[in-house]
Amino acid sequence: MTAPIQSNPAAAGLSIVIPLWNEAAGLPQLHERVCAVAARLRDTRGLPVEIVYVNDGSRDDTEKVALSLPAQDADVQVVGLSRNFGKEAALLAGLEHARRGAVLFMDGDGQHPPSLVETLVARWLDDGYDVVYTAKAHRQNEPWLLRSGVHIFYSLINWGSRQKIPEDAGDFRLLSPRAAAALRQMPERNRFFKGLASWIGFRQLRVDYEPAAREHGKTSWNLWSLLAFSIEGLTSFSVAPLRVASLLGVAIAFVALLFGIWILFETWFYGKDVPGYPSLAVAIMVLGGVQLVMIGVLGEYIGKLLAESKQRPVYFVAEHQVKAAEDASTVPAKNAAKDAAE
Ligand code: UDP
Ligand code: MG
Repeated sequence: MTAPIQSNPAAAGLSIVIPLWNEAAGLPQLHERVCAVAARLRDTRGLPVEIVYVNDGSRDDTEKVALSLPAQDADVQVVGLSRNFGKEAALLAGLEHARRGAVLFMDGDGQHPPSLVETLVARWLDDGYDVVYTAKAHRQNEPWLLRSGVHIFYSLINWGSRQKIPEDAGDFRLLSPRAAAALRQMPERNRFFKGLASWIGFRQLRVDYEPAAREHGKTSWNLWSLLAFSIEGLTSFSVAPLRVASLLGVAIAFVALLFGIWILFETWFYGKDVPGYPSLAVAIMVLGGVQLVMIGVLGEYIGKLLAESKQRPVYFVAEHQVKAAEDASTVPAKNAAKDAAE
């Protein structure tokens, strides 16, 4: 690239990364909507766009549908993973295959409104923000239990950390070229995107939005997978659980000390015999339980260490297709730079 192009941030373009898992039914419609946005971005801002679909080992026709999508107003890449690796892995695959400067992540189920993309791009290009993330405007339609669970999760993960992960932030976010480059440098295998995207810093901005209802199919989350994901996020991102263990140890030791003093006091001043069996049984059970839980917590971290030390790739690519935009006006980024300079 020549110098004047680099001086214009829009010229580097935008990669829209969309992970797909069994989304065949709604994909053509989503593609149309994203292409419409791409066309508008190209015409109004001279921003070349590519769409990166990552098929995360779908069991339906997603791959076939994705491969047949037309590259109308944007380049279209289809990256097919060798099996289902999970959304975080799919996002990483998209990030690593993205060829444009800025990267935008978006769900493939239509819940992240494509119309909001232009707003996010405006915050990046006009206001110079590096990480523009979206957050649900409210969670009123979610059960109370889930909301409190989410709240506890974020208070734990943010406990004592310098860079707080914003509550309710979703995976729908835009990263400027330098933020995307920073994210690519993170070496860990256990990825927690929301956390990483916040950890890198730079200029971050929150945009509230109203998520649409899922257009078809159903969410891949249930109570257990959410819980597993939370433990995954917590342990890969913070040492709060270990701190809880230490604090709990201190608290229990303190209570035991008070109890001991109380027993001595009773024996010396009232000459009472300490009732042995119930207090012993309770003490053994409480301590045994706490110790087992904490061994479990330690085990989570050791498991993380094991996974990281194996250095396995996060995903494998089975299929890769790149289609250049049919419309010639997207291809030469030079024109875009000139337009913008005028
Ligand atoms: N997804 C994926 N791999 C998975 C599960 C989900 O790539 O193993 C994708 C899915 O196709 C969708 C996005 O991740 O584009 C969000 O999934 P979902 O709608 O099930 O989650 P929710 O919106 O309920 O958080
Ligand atoms: Mg969804």
